[in-house]
Amino acid sequence: MTGRRALFLDRDGVVNEDLGYVHRIEDFHFRPGIFELCRAARGLGMALVVVTNQSGICRGMYSEEDFAALTEWMRARFVAEGAPLDRVEHCPDVAPSRRRKPGPGMILDAAAALGLDLAASVMLGDRRTDMAAAEAAGVGIRLLFPHDAAEVVDHGPRTIIFPIGAPLTEAISFLASAADKVS
Ligand SMILES: [Mg+2]
Repeated sequence: MTGRRALFLDRDGVVNEDLGYVHRIEDFHFRPGIFELCRAARGLGMALVVVTNQSGICRGMYSEEDFAALTEWMRARFVAEGAPLDRVEHCPDVAPSRRRKPGPGMILDAAAALGLDLAASVMLGDRRTDMAAAEAAGVGIRLLFPHDAAEVVDHGPRTIIFPIGAPLTEAISFLASAADKVS
C-alpha cells in the first residue's frame, strides 16, 4: 500500500440535501450524520475529499465566485465540526468531460495532489454517476446511498448499495472494514 486512504464524498445529496443547483448558504442544509461519518473517517486516518459536478456554473445559474464563497463557508463548518476537508474538487462542465462525473478526472486529480491510494479508498455517493466515476478511477470500495430507485444499478461486489433513506452513519462500519483489509 502506498499513499493515504481517502473518503470521497459527493456533495449534493450526501453532504447537503439536494435541492437542485444549490448555490446559496440559506439553501445549504447539511445531511444528518455527515459530520459523524467524516469524523470517523478522519479517526481512521482517511483524507476527506468532496467531488462535485457543478454544471450550474456553465449553465449561467451561478458563478465560480458564488461556488467559491459557498465552499469556503462549507469548509469552515467542517472545521468547526472537527472534520476538516482536505480538498474540494468541482467541475463546471455541462457536457461530458474528463472531470465531470461519471468521468474519473476529479478523483484522479485529487489523488495526484494528495498522494492517495485509490484502491484502498472509499467513495460515497447518491447517484450511479458517482459510482461509475469511482469505478473508472479505481476507487476500491463504493458506497451508494440512493434517494431514488432509478439510481440503483448493480456495479458489482465492490459497490455496496444501501436502502433508500438509510442513515449516512451506516457507512462507518464499512470504512473500518475497508481499513482492515488494507492494513
Ligand atoms: Mg449527488
